This record gives sequence, C-alpha cells and structure tokens, in this order.
Amino acid sequence: MAITPALLPQLLTAIIATIEAHQEAVTALDQAIGDGDHVYNLQRGLQALQQQSDSLAQLDWPSAWQKIGFSLMSTVGGASGSLYGTLFISMSKAAQGKTLDFTGFAAAFAQGVEAMKQRGKTQLGEKTLLDVLIPVAAYLQQAATEPNVDYLNQISQIATQRMEATRDMLATKGRASFLGERSLGHIDAGAKTAQLMLCAIVAVLKTHSA
Ligand code: ADP
Ligand code: MG
Repeated sequence: MAITPALLPQLLTAIIATIEAHQEAVTALDQAIGDGDHVYNLQRGLQALQQQSDSLAQLDWPSAWQKIGFSLMSTVGGASGSLYGTLFISMSKAAQGKTLDFTGFAAAFAQGVEAMKQRGKTQLGEKTLLDVLIPVAAYLQQAATEPNVDYLNQISQIATQRMEATRDMLATKGRASFLGERSLGHIDAGAKTAQLMLCAIVAVLKTHSA
C-alpha cells in the first residue's frame, strides 16, 4: 500500500502519544544539560500540526511537508523548531516533481537532514538530535538499494542505539555545550525525542503494511 499524507493524522496521533508518555523523562534529560523546555516546545508544534491534520491529509507530500515545515518554524521555537522546520521545508523542495517511491523518499529525507546539518552547523558526534537523524538518513539511502530488507525494524534499532550513544558524547552545539565536560553521562533530550518519534512512525507503518 502506498504511504500518502492520508496517514498523517494517524502518524501525528502516535507521535503525540509517545511524546506525552515520555514527557517527564525527556524534561529530566533536558533539565540536566539544557533549559528544560524541549518537550514543551515540541508539544506546541505537534498540537498545531494536529489541528491541521485533516487538511494536511488532503495534500501531496511536497505540499504537506512545506506546510508542516512552516508551521513548526513558527510554533516550536528554540533550536529544535528551526531545525525541524528546515527538515520539512528542504524535504518539500527536494521532492518537487519527483516520484516518491522508497528511493525518492530516502533522497528527500537525506537532503532534509543535510539542510539541518547546515542550519545547525552541526556534524555527527556533537550530542544532538542529528546523531539520530544522520545515521537513519544514511541507512534509508542504503536500504533503498536492497530489495526486501526489513528496514522498519532497522530504523528503530539504529535510532535507539544512536540516541543511547549520545550519553557518552561531549556536547559542542546548543545549550548543553556551555557545560563542557559536565554534559557527559546524559542522553541528549533532542536525540531522545527524535528516537521516540521515529519509533512511533515505524509502529504505524508496520500496522499499515501488515
Ligand atoms: P533550545 O536549545 O533553543 O532551548 P530546544 O530545547 O527545543 O531548543 O531543543 C534542544 C535540542 O535541540 C537539543 O537537545 C539538541 O538535540 C538540539 N540542538 C540544539 N542546538 C543544535 C544544533 N546547533 N544542531 C543540532 N541540534 C541542535
Ligand atoms: Mg531548550
């Protein structure tokens, strides 16, 4: 079955539920090395998207991603808002006029993540949400060349391992970087929410393709 924006209401419901279920845990992480607002920033953005979800469901992916990107930019606030806004706006640009099969989707996602790296001036290993998104984007591009690969379970696994790995990284970007060595030993809050959202998407896609 094709994955179209008609799935967006279900995806958003699942994402909002997992963020809500982990709200306190994420806040504890963000209070340790950030300013503690990350989960609320994200929830504000997700609620704004949920209010538009019926109209988003009628669009094609490039138009839906563009609307999502602008909405996140204006509602989330904080570093994560401009980064996620950039992701979707860049995915929308990358997808214009392209066939959104697995290969096309993987390419658009990779381009979106690349734009986030530029926006945040951030590379792999700096203890941010990009430590989850960069490896997932790279994996999807590789998986697009391998037929019948169990890519959904792989995405959850990679996202979870890479989120965990931020615990031992030294933060060199964002607020956590002000702490220097004291950022060691804590998982990055943004990496945690990225992992939660990816796992929620995977769970919905699994029931959809079952
Ligand atoms: P703020 O740090 O402005 O309060 P949030 O609390 O919403 O914004 O988001 C914090 C998260 O954003 C961090 O946990 C980290 O994952 C991510 N982040 C912050 N700065 C950057 C950056 N320059 N590049 C990539 N990710 C970043
Ligand atoms: Mg914050």
